Amino acid sequence: MARLCGNDALQGHEEEEEDVETDVGCRCSEQRVHDDLPTTTIIMCFVDEVWSTLLRSVHSVLSRSPPHLIEEVILVDDFSTKEYLKEQLDTYMARFPKVKILRLRERHGLIRARLAGAEIAKGTVLTFLDSHVECNVGWLEPLLERVRLRRTKVACPVIEVISDKDMSYMTVDNFQRGVFTWPMNFGWRQIPQEVIEANKIKETDIIRCPVMAGGLFSIDKKYFFELGMYDPGLDVWGGENMEISFKVWMCGGEIEIVPCSRVGHIFRNDNPYSFPKDRVRTVERNLARVAEVWLDEYKELFYGHAYHLVLKNVDVGDLTQQIQLRKKLQCKSFRWYLENVYPDLEAPLVKASGLLVNVALAGCVAVEGPTLAFEECDVNNTNQHFNYTWLRLIQHGELCLAPSGVLGTLGLRRCQGRSRSLAWLHRSLATVRPGLSDHIISEHQHLPQPSCLEVDPSYKALRVKACDSTNPYQKWQFGNYHVD
Ligand code: UDP
Ligand code: MN
Repeated sequence: MARLCGNDALQGHEEEEEDVETDVGCRCSEQRVHDDLPTTTIIMCFVDEVWSTLLRSVHSVLSRSPPHLIEEVILVDDFSTKEYLKEQLDTYMARFPKVKILRLRERHGLIRARLAGAEIAKGTVLTFLDSHVECNVGWLEPLLERVRLRRTKVACPVIEVISDKDMSYMTVDNFQRGVFTWPMNFGWRQIPQEVIEANKIKETDIIRCPVMAGGLFSIDKKYFFELGMYDPGLDVWGGENMEISFKVWMCGGEIEIVPCSRVGHIFRNDNPYSFPKDRVRTVERNLARVAEVWLDEYKELFYGHAYHLVLKNVDVGDLTQQIQLRKKLQCKSFRWYLENVYPDLEAPLVKASGLLVNVALAGCVAVEGPTLAFEECDVNNTNQHFNYTWLRLIQHGELCLAPSGVLGTLGLRRCQGRSRSLAWLHRSLATVRPGLSDHIISEHQHLPQPSCLEVDPSYKALRVKACDSTNPYQKWQFGNYHVD
């Protein structure tokens, strides 16, 4: 893709929007970078990559980067099985002295393969790339410029799309930010037009990103090691982009998209390699590990949105070193990250809170010493305040509403996030049973049938009874709902 200044732009009519493409390219080519940019090691991991695709990646680096900035290109062979990736590749690459091939003796997975490359890298900056990319004209200098400005800046190119059908190169929309939604799904989101206009953001302006896509970025090597690289306890693939993103932001750095740096990437629906373990399970475990180390009290949002993980009780492995690292680096809290880096993420700590009101009697549930009562509602009485948590508990301090299992009675028990017997379904969760969305359905597994929280209208006693969609004494409302 050519990036030439059109006549319009040359004559200074920069406002004209006929061809945004050319316009961005032109503005980028006018940008200056320092003469003393740091050198970089390119680290490209691959496993069973297609020959021509791998070559396209390597050649785009070699032919579109100023040679003096490339210390070396390390191709990390993550134990590929394809014959052509052995001797044939060695022979081919032998004519390019900067290209080195590191052969791993067993499958490391993307995360540990990158670390193996980083450990032998000699450049000042590490630039990670996938093995199915095409670096565009002038891609490298703007990345290195950012790292040179401040060594804690992590610079990402705009990732454009190479079609997996005909290998053609397609540009993407400008103003995309890397974000995540619960439970930590990475995605792109366009900066809203109003924000662009209000802040007069230009196509060439740096975009600060809550999270990076993962595959392509430049980072100061020393800084990468100070940050403890990637958590080496992460397996194969997935979640590492979350980990590095949270770590960078919370421990003093920044993640930026540099619009003047463009790299095409083949997005594939299927990985051309096998996963040593089940793919979904691997990613889930990695994400749970990241949640445990970095999310603080917000990890409940992660588990609430991926509740099956609570039930499965995933083994995330030993976290001691990661927690120590976070302490040593004096990283900020996840709350700080949300407030300062990603304020537009909806992240209420509980699903609902306040009074728990019975719709028919307009009375409230209250904690009275070790037991429960049903009283006249009083917002000022903190004994009537409950949280409905992401782990589905109805919680008052340390205590949780619990069916006691016998004769439909209800009591208080010490809360325990992972206990199904303390969990309740309400509103959107309760809609699995038709007509029960205002009900509060117990998840206790020893109850004989679907059972709901109910107040006995004559004795004003609380109990758990067979759910009945028409029974108004089973309909409840919290004072405040923070989601749906
Ligand atoms: N990769 C690797 N070992 C693995 C999995 C992936 O070396 O076990 C390489 C892969 O060849 C690619 C990069 O890591 O160059 C990123 O993987 P992939 O492109 O599949 O991730 P995606 O772009 O789909 O997120
Ligand atoms: Mn890829």
